[in-house]
Amino acid sequence: MALENSKFLFERSLARIPGGVNSPVRAFGAVGGTPVFFREGRGAKVIDVDGREYIDYVLSWGPLILGHADAQVVDAVQRTAARGLSFGAPTELELEMAELLTASLPSLEQVRLVSSGTEAVMSALRLARGFTGRDVIVKFEGCYHGHSDFLLVKAGSGALTFGNPTSAGVPADIVAKTVVLEYNNPAHLEELFARHGSTIAAVVLEPVAGNMNFVKPTLEFHQVLRRLCTQHGAVLVFDEVMTGYRVAAEGAQGLFGITPDLTTLGKVIGGGLPVGAFGGRRDIMAKLAPLGPVYQAGTLSGNPVAVSAGLATLKRVLAPGFFDRLGATSAKLVAGLEKEARDAGIAFSTASLGGMFGFFFRSAAPRTFAEAMDSDREAFKRFFHAMLDRGVYLAPSAFEAGFVSSAHGEAELAATLSAARAAFAEIRS
Ligand code: PLP
Repeated sequence: MALENSKFLFERSLARIPGGVNSPVRAFGAVGGTPVFFREGRGAKVIDVDGREYIDYVLSWGPLILGHADAQVVDAVQRTAARGLSFGAPTELELEMAELLTASLPSLEQVRLVSSGTEAVMSALRLARGFTGRDVIVKFEGCYHGHSDFLLVKAGSGALTFGNPTSAGVPADIVAKTVVLEYNNPAHLEELFARHGSTIAAVVLEPVAGNMNFVKPTLEFHQVLRRLCTQHGAVLVFDEVMTGYRVAAEGAQGLFGITPDLTTLGKVIGGGLPVGAFGGRRDIMAKLAPLGPVYQAGTLSGNPVAVSAGLATLKRVLAPGFFDRLGATSAKLVAGLEKEARDAGIAFSTASLGGMFGFFFRSAAPRTFAEAMDSDREAFKRFFHAMLDRGVYLAPSAFEAGFVSSAHGEAELAATLSAARAAFAEIRS
């Protein structure tokens, strides 16, 4: 494929930006080839700097649930920007966002806005430590919670893609209080809490894992987690940065009927601009500055332009029927992919929930980190490029979930499945 202009821009970027990118997975390191530079997005499609069009299943890694450049979101951003970009003082828009988030997620009694998912999780866990007076944080292998030092232990997403799930530059002392367990393994949890329950400040997890590809939790795993945290006074933190307003209007917590103590949000709540949030029980949130002793702050926190993009997005996402349609789109996509793979005689499986999906070059969808690792990465790589050549942009890593938007319709699905038919035939040969 030509990609002449992308190649030229990537060469220039390599000289001035480490690896040519501002976030590692964008570099195509796991799939090889030149990263595609985009110049425009409209609905379900993106156009690259060589004028080629692609159906986009990355959607800026999840935020663009209404597709690219949605007219109402762009209008809200333009109108807010025209009245001032930032004040560093309270605005009514932030309050509106806090009211919308707390009304739609019942576990959120109070919420604070930040500017990224990383900040949201880092702050929530500082708060959990401050609230409990304990130090130990429990996380799960293959879950990614942003790039805070103490959470870059056996992490997912780009860390996993590049073979550094535990980052260099993180002192051993800093991760000494982070315990990593296997996802979907309640027995490990029981064992850890029986031995060390009184030292555990918080357990943090992706309630549906989207950073080791896409791994669904069992209900038992969630229920055991909730029971143990309650019994031992540990704070249960649902990291819904990816799943919040993405798998369901009520989040993964609503789908599974679990009430976490704290929740972190990002991605969709900013509609494509930088917004993160963390919130939950009022007694825990009361420990946060300026009310309590746990410090947290941000120059651009609750930025009005970013918040207006999020509000315009969330209002549509929370309308009745939105997730029925979105869920049907993902389900139809993955069913079609499975059929095409089966027809080509390729071992392949899929899973989806709301507007999120995963596909795997293995015969059954994974339930654990080890199973997620056990898939044919070479086949993924070839499929990725075969699809890219045919105008379908998938995440350039076998360890990332995929996303659909409300702008993905019948025409996009049909074009994707026809590309998949040809791509499976190509990689089989
Ligand atoms: N938590 C989860 C579950 C995520 O998927 C991500 C990013 O992909 C983050 C936290 C970090 O968010 P951000 O990239 O906005 O810092």
